[in-house]
Amino acid sequence: MESLISVVLPAYNEEGNIALAVNTLTEKFRTESFHYELVFVNDGSKDKTWLEIEKAKSMDPEHVKGICFSRNFGKEAAVFAGLNYAAGDAVVIMDCDMQHPPKTVLKMYELWKQGYEVVEGVKLSRGKESAIHGFAAKTFYRIISKATGIDMANASDFKLLDRKVVDILRQMPERNSFFRALSSWVGFRTVQVGFEVQERQSGKSKWSTRSLIKYAITNITSFTSLPLQLVTMSGFFVLLFAIILGIQTLVRYFSGHAVEGFTTVILLLLFIGSVIMISLGIIGYYIAKIYDEVKKRPKYIVSEVI
Ligand code: UDP
Ligand code: MG
Repeated sequence: MESLISVVLPAYNEEGNIALAVNTLTEKFRTESFHYELVFVNDGSKDKTWLEIEKAKSMDPEHVKGICFSRNFGKEAAVFAGLNYAAGDAVVIMDCDMQHPPKTVLKMYELWKQGYEVVEGVKLSRGKESAIHGFAAKTFYRIISKATGIDMANASDFKLLDRKVVDILRQMPERNSFFRALSSWVGFRTVQVGFEVQERQSGKSKWSTRSLIKYAITNITSFTSLPLQLVTMSGFFVLLFAIILGIQTLVRYFSGHAVEGFTTVILLLLFIGSVIMISLGIIGYYIAKIYDEVKKRPKYIVSEVI
């Protein structure tokens, strides 16, 4: 029996890329020995993306599926929705701006045929980005790599997952999930394929510096409690200071020079004050995350499926 490969394509304001993605992928897959379906997830686009998906559906009803969110829920949510609606024996997740080369999908398929259950797309180079951006990305991935125990420096969301893995990811109860790391964290027979990040075909990247910082903080806290350990560590650090200064203060008191040291008092107040504030902030952030999870709101809301 021929296998069915699902390709999940999250799309947010990608009106110029839908038809292009359908054509490119159809061109690539037509001559292959497997069946395929293209699962577009419209993540609350403000342009004509959904209209384009409907058009693609009417032109090729056999191979195209469309899922429309009620508003923008972010790429993570779109990926998970795609996993829920994909019917394939293997599911490929790729960007619909064609920055992930379609020919790599065929390579992933071959590896899956050989028995690998997770095929990870790894960026051979990170493409064009500024020095600050590069540094921030590197720091972020260092923390995440430490938390997962997996080297994530060149990881991407471009992956092929076997049905088994997809079903496990779908059952994960957490709301704040980080697909890229989660799909490595589950284990299974994994292999990597390198790919060159292509130029975006049309439109522009959705990532602003602000959204990247938010993304980084969300994912770090969803994967590791390291920031909480930092709070404890800074507590010990302050305690060390306290002991040294305490001894000095006592010595001064018994030798009769106790009035001096007002500068020290001010500095200590400021220092300890800020450490406490930052620590409370970090703890507060985790409490907010717990609150989010406890509310059990859905990851996304679907308004239409075609
Ligand atoms: N995307 C999405 N929801 C969002 C932001 C992005 O579904 O809120 C999709 C987008 O349409 C694209 C993919 O995620 O298919 C990657 O986004 P983008 O190309 O903007 O990121 P970059 O390639 O610059 O990292
Ligand atoms: Mg892109």
